[in-house]
Amino acid sequence: MYTKPFNKQKGNCSDADEIIKWLRKFGPTSRTDLAYAFDFSRAKITPLVSDLIRRGIIREGGNIDTNEGRPPRLIRFKEDFGYAIGVDLGATSVDVGLADFSGHIVACFGEPLVLCSSPEIILKRICEIINDLVEKEKIGKECIIAIGLGVPGPVDFSTKLLVSPCGLPGWEVYPIQEYMKQQFPQAEIFIDNDANIMAFGELRAGIGKGVDNFIFLKVGTGIGAGIVCNGEIYQGSSGCSGDVGHICVDKEGPVCVCGNRGCLQSLASGKAIAEKATHGALEGQSPLLSERISSKENKLTAEDVSVAAAAGDAFSNKLLQESGELIGETLAGVVNVLNPSLLLIGGGVSNIGHQFLSSIRRAILRRSHPLSTRDLRIEYSSLGMKAGIIGAVSLALELFQMERRD
Ligand SMILES: [Zn+2]
Repeated sequence: MYTKPFNKQKGNCSDADEIIKWLRKFGPTSRTDLAYAFDFSRAKITPLVSDLIRRGIIREGGNIDTNEGRPPRLIRFKEDFGYAIGVDLGATSVDVGLADFSGHIVACFGEPLVLCSSPEIILKRICEIINDLVEKEKIGKECIIAIGLGVPGPVDFSTKLLVSPCGLPGWEVYPIQEYMKQQFPQAEIFIDNDANIMAFGELRAGIGKGVDNFIFLKVGTGIGAGIVCNGEIYQGSSGCSGDVGHICVDKEGPVCVCGNRGCLQSLASGKAIAEKATHGALEGQSPLLSERISSKENKLTAEDVSVAAAAGDAFSNKLLQESGELIGETLAGVVNVLNPSLLLIGGGVSNIGHQFLSSIRRAILRRSHPLSTRDLRIEYSSLGMKAGIIGAVSLALELFQMERRD
């Protein structure tokens, strides 16, 4: 769990650390509310806040709207104390965000890339993008204090290495952290699985804020889930939690990138939807898709299916419905086990249309225990394609706070 370093320090976590943790989680807060939250007297909170202001970590600014007396000033992070980078590395694209110390994204950039290229080529490109952003925003490179990276595969959290990333043999235990550290020696580097990072983004800045138990399902080239349990990311005993994309849904199904047959992601991911659409278009099953494919070098995307479905194409609608149902039927088991109150669907398909989401919803409601779905909301991610960079930035800033004190 992301709280692990805190747990490690239990008993010696200073009062100042507690205030910083609070501000990360709940945002700007008045002195009075901070004192109330920690049961500190006015005499105790004043020097703590003064010391953090003196060190340039926080500042006072902005008021709470009240109808009574003088409005209290808010304690907030000092934006230029340092900057963080969030990287969302997918199988077919990379997005990079630059955020100030409060977590506000001040600039971002994304581009398509092919992750099966060697890690050196990809990481070199990521560093170029970071340097471009830093230069454009006129921020000294030395001001980057933390970098968070979301990567598409299971990350062993004790070693911070990708372990058996399906279809990406060159990335197996590649020292990503060391590479980035060499380029940005002043920054702390943090790495986690992309679905965990997206879930964390929703937890801190999306509709997952304040929700203690929810699941973020990333559906893109692959499928994976980030699990929030009791308000924290649940990483399992080694970092492999949420790998729902490789649950078998058809023993006779196609061979998956993991080598097994009929995994959920081989049948219902954005990539699978695109492949089925391409096949259907070439076979003449959809006039609309057949028309689109001629300008697409015989390769359709999940987005093409979404556009065709919205235009009333029956074949595309059926594809989205079938994929949604497969995902929903698989998630019904997960919902029965974890009993979340919110399920968010994100990743490359987060804008694929109403049909997909309603099929997932129907299958889950049909297959789960009525008590586990009584309070369950099922929605698309509120942060959309930004969930990854917002989560990576939040992770970097929160863990930086802890690591700095080790
Ligand atoms: Zn698989």
